Formats: sequence, structure tokens, C-alpha cells
Amino acid sequence: MSCFGADPNFCATCGNVLPLPGKHDVIRCPRCSFSIPVTEFSGQEIRSTIIFNPVEQSSLSLEGMEDSELKGPVIDRRCSRCNKEGMIYHTRQMRSADEGQTVFFTCIHCRYQEKEDS
Ligand SMILES: [Zn+2]
Ligand SMILES: [Zn+2]
Repeated sequence: MSCFGADPNFCATCGNVLPLPGKHDVIRCPRCSFSIPVTEFSGQEIRSTIIFNPVEQSSLSLEGMEDSELKGPVIDRRCSRCNKEGMIYHTRQMRSADEGQTVFFTCIHCRYQEKEDS
């Protein structure tokens, strides 16, 4: 191994920039055909994924939302539980920026709640 060995973006033999891992579990250098298994790099990615999971779960929790769900514009969407028209439209921004906005509909008759990802 040479001094290039520590950086997974470069070939350990010739220092050429390596392609991103695709379907194969081996990255092959296009210049000198040196190859290295992808599993040697995957540790870092797995760790960062685990960190984000608790945040995702807590933002999806519907607890403590009761009365705030009954404020907002009423639209003529039909409730799929009691089959009457009239549901309150409201949006909720998820804590993570990548998740975008989720639209909620709350029935004014039976308070049944439906969720729709935008
Ligand atoms: Zn190489
Ligand atoms: Zn209803």
C-alpha cells in the first residue's frame, strides 16, 4: 500500500481518481486496473445513516397534535371513514429538510386524519 491508501476516492496504486461504486461490490481503477472491495469504505456511510434515524422517528410521531389539527381551511374533501365532505387542510414541515412537507386532512365530523406526502 502507498500513501494513497487512506483516501477511498483515489487509487491506492497510481493515485488516479476512482469511479463511484455502482452495482458491483468492487471499485476498479480505470488506469491500472487495481481493484478494491466497496465494503472497505461502507463503514462511514452506515454510521451517518444511523445518526439520522432517531430524528426521523420523533418527527413522525402524531402525539400531542390533537387540537392544533382543528385549525385551518376546510376543503370539500370526502372523509374516507364517515363519508361526509369537509376536511381541514393543514401542512406540517418535517424537521429534516430532505423530507419536505406533509399535508394532513382532518375530518370535521369524526376527526379522522389522513396524511399525504407532497
Ligand atoms: Zn490505479
Ligand atoms: Zn369523517
